[in-house]
Amino acid sequence: PREDYQPLYKILESATAFYEQQLRNPKTKDRPISYFKGRGLSGQTAKQFRLGYAPQGWDNLISALGNSDAEVKNLIKAGLLIENEQGRRYDRFRDRVIFPIRDSRGRVIAFGGRVMGDDKPKYLNSPETPVFHKGKELYGLYEAKLASNKIRRFVIVEGYMDVIALAQFGIPYAVATLGTATSRDHIEKLFRSSDELIFCFDGDEAGRRAAWRALENALPTAKDGRQIKFLLLPEGEDPDTLVRKNGTDYFEGLLNECDTLSEYFYKHLGAEVDTRTMDGRARLASLAKPYLEQLPSGVLQQLMLKRLGEITELADIQLDPAPPREHPEAR
Ligand code: ATP
Ligand code: MN
Ligand code: MN
Ligand code: MN
Repeated sequence: PREDYQPLYKILESATAFYEQQLRNPKTKDRPISYFKGRGLSGQTAKQFRLGYAPQGWDNLISALGNSDAEVKNLIKAGLLIENEQGRRYDRFRDRVIFPIRDSRGRVIAFGGRVMGDDKPKYLNSPETPVFHKGKELYGLYEAKLASNKIRRFVIVEGYMDVIALAQFGIPYAVATLGTATSRDHIEKLFRSSDELIFCFDGDEAGRRAAWRALENALPTAKDGRQIKFLLLPEGEDPDTLVRKNGTDYFEGLLNECDTLSEYFYKHLGAEVDTRTMDGRARLASLAKPYLEQLPSGVLQQLMLKRLGEITELADIQLDPAPPREHPEAR
């Protein structure tokens, strides 16, 4: 029989309520509330995303929720308590603002915690647990589904604060991967609810690398009729800072005008070669072909191949069938 995870969900729910409660507790609430206010969040937004605060100290959760051996065991299993080699148990999240991560049914399955100052690490996330698999979950997906019954498009961003700021600015269809690369599973999951995905990562080197990685994982999912787009942000900006500075209409304007997969693809590869030379165009063809082979056969694949022919001035480029995938994790 399948293991019963009900007790895990239950303790995660209790922990969420505990962290939420600390934002109302006069002894603890001042610093986290002024942190959230300083970042422009309204009380309503905090409520909507069930934001919270994990107070200072090593044993807040054990004291509040660990009333029996079974509960302590579940707190450990849920990733909320850490047990060291000496068998000592202590709270994972201490003096951090808390972002509960919910599955698409709304159950809390994990947490992200952010320091309010400059300490490292800036964010701490729950570890993998029986109910939390980073490569499959998306922050904000439940909230996006609550906000509209037919989701026209998703924007995939990097961070918690990006999802929350966009939602507060009336863009409730953003989701974030949880400190990991966008996987094929993430993409397929989103395509079950919408046929348009826009990747919108930070305007920095890490964000640009993440966008290309996302393209690599998205290629096999790019069936005709689905739209995959890329919005590269100005240097130093992320969706949170940009929507706050320039507002909703501006940001939605960027989303409406961003690059399609094929545009981004040839822009990116075109920047790596000199297409004025035959040698450069040959190199472009050798770079592009393995990617085009990853596309499902269909009109987009043919059009992108045709485009490669135009750029290289070579009428007839042949694709080989896509090789079997070597790395199961690249799925
Ligand atoms: P903020 O705006 O709160 O400073 P951010 O979301 O813009 O944070 P980034 O540095 O752009 O932060 O990182 C993007 C995302 O990557 C974070 O929201 C978080 O989910 C994850 N992340 C960042 N740093 C860490 C870390 N040290 N450990 C785990 N995950 C991290
Ligand atoms: Mn970044
Ligand atoms: Mn940010
Ligand atoms: Mn960022």
